[in-house]
Amino acid sequence: MSAEEPILLTPGPLTTSMRVKQAMLRDWGSRDEAFVALNRHVIGQIARIAGCDESYAVVPLQGSGTYAVEAMIATLAPTDGRTLVLANGSYGRRIVEICRRLGRNHDVYEVPEDETHDMAELGRRLAEDPGIRAVAAVHCETTSGLLNPLQAISDVVVKAGRALLVDSMSGFGALPVDAGQLRFAALAASANKCLQGAPGVAFVICRKADLATSKGRSPSLVLDLEDQHRQMTTDGQWRYTPPTHVIAALGAAIDELVEEGGSEARLRRYTANCDTLITGMQELGFRPVLPRERQAPVIVSFFEPQDAWFDFTTFYDLLRQRGFAIYAGKMKQGGTFRIGTIGAIDPQTIAAFLVAAGDVVSEMRRGH
Ligand SMILES: *Cc1c(COP(=O)(O)O)cnc(C)c1O
Repeated sequence: MSAEEPILLTPGPLTTSMRVKQAMLRDWGSRDEAFVALNRHVIGQIARIAGCDESYAVVPLQGSGTYAVEAMIATLAPTDGRTLVLANGSYGRRIVEICRRLGRNHDVYEVPEDETHDMAELGRRLAEDPGIRAVAAVHCETTSGLLNPLQAISDVVVKAGRALLVDSMSGFGALPVDAGQLRFAALAASANKCLQGAPGVAFVICRKADLATSKGRSPSLVLDLEDQHRQMTTDGQWRYTPPTHVIAALGAAIDELVEEGGSEARLRRYTANCDTLITGMQELGFRPVLPRERQAPVIVSFFEPQDAWFDFTTFYDLLRQRGFAIYAGKMKQGGTFRIGTIGAIDPQTIAAFLVAAGDVVSEMRRGH
């Protein structure tokens, strides 16, 4: 732990391994056969993690995760019907904003940030309104750390014959994503969260059949997944400059995921991190916002103590001096902060953090 290079207890970019960092020390020619092979390998590995068969394509895209979400909506959200967006946090609301900007017709089914949607109500809305052609959902709502019931959502949406568009940004790589079971039309994720790569590349996993019928639908050139996919499958090359180093890092990160034992093993490690964190923080007097059954082991929101000694900025700075970077809160209700449990960290890292947090709490109480 060092103040110069802190452990990032954040939802991403997050703490990566030395191997992932070292993978970025080489320059790759974007049209060189070695890079084309690396790119093909990474795409194949992502498809394997998602349990995709040949009917799905993995379309990588330059940029952060939001680029992939916007590309998914631009290319695949219907133009001859509406998309129902399930919102219970700022990432769901961001999809609404994307639909609004793109002029894509949509409805919003919003519930409070610490609650999940009522599946009976979702089923009713779909049954009563044939104009809804797609449903957009967020897997882990990173705003709070809430786990949305993606399989249950999929069951309702697929049964009703609608397309499911998923933002699994902070879930993919750890939370279960199996295309055969979730039967999503499209799912967006990025390199720098549970995959533990570097930021700069994202991707959308979607049905080839849907890509085939979406030619020209995206009003944006750079966010056009159909065009990106068609050109990449023609000659194996990216349309525009690929983030070569970031893709090399993602390749190393996925190799590590496979060596760890895949998504299931990673979910176990994150769950151990999360359990250690919640137990230890409760011992220090902090209260998690979400009940355990709605908490994803990705990032945990805590209430700020209402006592005079507590001030988030001081708490953050003193932890930062001890080599840990935590995260500000993002929930509408305010008075919360977040601590991430993902990245190249384990329960020992969390235990070391808790020792630091204990010191900081004592210091702040004393100083008051
Ligand atoms: C991180 C995240 C995104 C994308 O955010 P970027 O800052 O664009 O990488 C989208 N949705 C969710 C749920 C996220 O956690």
